[in-house]
Amino acid sequence: MRFNRTSLPPLRRRAAWGLWLVAVWGCGAWATPPAADAVERLEHESRSKPDAVADELERLLSAGPIEGVARLDAENLLGLLRATLHQPSAAEAVIERMTQAGSPAYSKLPTEQVQAAATCIRIDIALSNGGSLTRADAQWSEIEHTLRAIPSVRVHMRCLSTAAAVKQRIGRIDEAVRLSQEAIRLADESGAAWRRSAYRSSLAYTLYRGAQLEHAGRINDEAKKIAAESHDWMSMFEAMTTESILLTDSGRPAEELAALNGAIEYARKAGAPREEALGLANLSDYYLHAGEYPRAYEIAQRAIPLLRDLHDVTTENLAHMNSGLALIAMKRKDEGMALIRPLLEYDRAANDIASLAESTRDVATYLERAGYLAEAYAAYQQLRGLSDELAQRDQQEAVLELQESFDAQQRKRELALLNEDNALKEEQLRGRELEYKIWALTAGIVLSLLALAARMYGGLRATQQALRLRNAQLRRHSLQDPLTGLANRRQFHEITDPAGGRGAAKGTLYLLDLDHFKSINDHHGHAAGDAVLVETARRLRAVLREEDLIVRWGGEEFLVLVSAMAHERVEPLAQRLLNAVASVPVVVGDKRIPVTTSIGFAEFPLMPNRLDLPWDLAVDIADNAMYVAKTLGRNRACGVGMLPATTQAEVDAVIQDLEQSWRTGRVQLSMLEGPAVEGRV
Ligand code: GH3
Ligand code: MG
Ligand code: MG
Repeated sequence: MRFNRTSLPPLRRRAAWGLWLVAVWGCGAWATPPAADAVERLEHESRSKPDAVADELERLLSAGPIEGVARLDAENLLGLLRATLHQPSAAEAVIERMTQAGSPAYSKLPTEQVQAAATCIRIDIALSNGGSLTRADAQWSEIEHTLRAIPSVRVHMRCLSTAAAVKQRIGRIDEAVRLSQEAIRLADESGAAWRRSAYRSSLAYTLYRGAQLEHAGRINDEAKKIAAESHDWMSMFEAMTTESILLTDSGRPAEELAALNGAIEYARKAGAPREEALGLANLSDYYLHAGEYPRAYEIAQRAIPLLRDLHDVTTENLAHMNSGLALIAMKRKDEGMALIRPLLEYDRAANDIASLAESTRDVATYLERAGYLAEAYAAYQQLRGLSDELAQRDQQEAVLELQESFDAQQRKRELALLNEDNALKEEQLRGRELEYKIWALTAGIVLSLLALAARMYGGLRATQQALRLRNAQLRRHSLQDPLTGLANRRQFHEITDPAGGRGAAKGTLYLLDLDHFKSINDHHGHAAGDAVLVETARRLRAVLREEDLIVRWGGEEFLVLVSAMAHERVEPLAQRLLNAVASVPVVVGDKRIPVTTSIGFAEFPLMPNRLDLPWDLAVDIADNAMYVAKTLGRNRACGVGMLPATTQAEVDAVIQDLEQSWRTGRVQLSMLEGPAVEGRV
């Protein structure tokens, strides 16, 4: 995983002008133009030397009579620096000073403006120190309006940039883009080259997160040009880093490596050790991608002590992540996971779902690459949950589109992996088959994330209508089997027993289980097995009427409920179902696959006593009858006729061993044979 400082507020600046600044500040009030100029220079300097500048600001603020807008500007910068330096309590202290009731320093400013400048620091504390980003975003909505009126354009720009970073991190790409553009507009008006460049790199990175690669490239080129023209090495570092990120997986590794090494070089030139270490961490990511794992590990490890000295937790985490991934790739899973697990917990605690999803995807990819398939599978499952969680975040329309874009193939794969009814056990998920499934699922997830990101950037507003549509669609999906489009068990339960109580079964139930389905999978492959299931569903639909309920009950089991049907038609329908499935082989590609099914069926209330039974017992009866059909040779249907019981317990006793009960005359069963089938495997 690669990081870009430009996703954080650009706050790193220089060192050599410090003495001059002390001289200027030492002798006058801040509200004069030279002092304003000084803040500008100091902010620029803080990009490469944030610690030194923060200390200096602290000294100056306590020494001089700085008031009003100038003080607001300086304290806002100081607070943001402390936050970015992972010194949250120092940042809090700044906030406290700013918001003290009746502070004479701020007597000429509206309180709400001072509050807003302080809240912006609070937001950055969350952003840079693993706080709640959702809360930070809510705080932003409270101050956005006030900030527009604030008499310091610098405060406004810094806050826009901080808020854009929050939006980007929580996946609200379109809003992040809007805020970044606003910051760029202000920066262009106010003139400072470093800011014009830095905000552009920031925007480029956000666009990249929104899958707008081309647009991102254009903006970042502008950033580079501005930085080069003004000899601003920090901005060059940011632009080169962003460039390297844009080049990831672009198939241009030489350019990517050049951008990475360029970034490290510019960080050195700018005298910015933190950025240099970040460059190293990013270089390790490059080698990870290139499959040079020992080198990736070694470079990440080189960055760690540097970062620890700098107390740069975020980048240190990145270096640990890359080390962990490299270890996994070198088949040292346990060591690797030990490094990575706390990082995932950190993201989770911060509710940074986008970052968590990204890390989880990386972990899954490397586990899979190293052959830890079961663990990879689990990680992909988590990823799916996370992408759902991301999707649910307010981007209703995006989600709607995203779900539309899931084609049948993806649904089918997801089902095969995720449908618990199929009870796909871990042991079954081995070898090539799993690799294929994982591949397909990954493709689905990556596509869905991309589609989501693309939609989010599309800037569509979540309208009420989209919300309604989406809810309807979600509901439909939750009640439908994705592979066959049939109802799922949940829909069956909702329909048969809407109140969740113990309603009595009414109608005829047919339970179908395809015969020797496992050997169809074994002989023709899992995809062919899926095709058989889809075709079976189609054939059942063809035989049944619209109002009949057809449920995908389990892997290769289907349950049919026909509500009102004359008794004389119950057996003929069973026969038609047998024939529909088995008369003609299923054609998959150039193969003709013979398929048969065993069916158990029964009518409810149960004759001869019209005994009311709960639905689950009714299904059990059909299931046991189906089992009898299996044991009597398959490709046949077994119907439960007269079962003279007056209580559920009696029914239970009879169906325990239905075949035996039948042979001893405690129940009548009817037997129907399926069509003759050639070439059955
Ligand atoms: P029987 O005649 O006794 O029913 O034998 P069978 O092979 O059909 O029964 P078994 O229950 O042993 O195997 C069912 C198989 O169906 C095992 C499982 O891998 C496969 N299966 C379950 N769900 C799916 C699916 O969605 N797609 C595919 N292709 N196979 C599935
Ligand atoms: Mg089965
Ligand atoms: Mg079967």
